[in-house]
Amino acid sequence: MNSPHHQTSRNTVVSLLDKTLRTSEISDRSVNGLQVEGTDKIMKIGLAVDACLEAYKLAQKKGCQMIIVHHGIIWEGIKSITGPLYKQIEFLVRNNINLYASHLPLDCHPTLGNNIQIAKALGLSNIQPFGTYRGIKIGFEGYLKTAASVKSISDLVKRKFGGPVSSLPFGPQKIRRVAIVSGGGSSSIPEAIEKKIDLYITGESSHENHHAALEGNLNVIYGGHYHTEKAGVQAVGKFLSKKFGVETEFLDIPTLV
Ligand SMILES: [Zn+2]
Repeated sequence: MNSPHHQTSRNTVVSLLDKTLRTSEISDRSVNGLQVEGTDKIMKIGLAVDACLEAYKLAQKKGCQMIIVHHGIIWEGIKSITGPLYKQIEFLVRNNINLYASHLPLDCHPTLGNNIQIAKALGLSNIQPFGTYRGIKIGFEGYLKTAASVKSISDLVKRKFGGPVSSLPFGPQKIRRVAIVSGGGSSSIPEAIEKKIDLYITGESSHENHHAALEGNLNVIYGGHYHTEKAGVQAVGKFLSKKFGVETEFLDIPTLV
């Protein structure tokens, strides 16, 4: 599998991803699947968290014919192709690059998803789905083998995922039960409180989380929206290179939020 000349077709990659990620079964604001069609011959695939011109330019420079992202460009349909959206689509079409997006399907996937990667990195056991959103559970919860503090888990999250990490240390000092929803997962804080979770890990904060967590005796760690959502596309890259022998590369473009 180390020959640089392996190639596959766009439709082969798209059907395998749609099937593996259950694209059509999961309700989402994102229009998941192939969002922009490019060349049929795929030799190299770029993986990125966000669809953006910077990612497309890097993908083109690196010789990718396809980019797979977590946050695509089509959300609840397209109203007009103007401004920044025009520039993005124009770049992809002119350079014959495919854009494939997988939002919630890639959060909740039991092996390739963002949340399971975080659960595994923390060494959780007895892992169960957690975090109901649009009728499905998009995150996971589980138990640490040995109780740990907010500080030690914060350090671990920072070491494993690299983001700026902050926390609301308002729950028990010895943490065993942990729930995770990557990205903008503030809306699952009430569920974490109700289930008496010791620590809730998500990507980004929202102002009203402070008193909610304080009054609910909940520890919260924010690992960064970008940084908690890198592992999913990276896992998809490994999965595809194993499957087709094509080259894959993570296009690391962190955001400032
Ligand atoms: Zn996100």
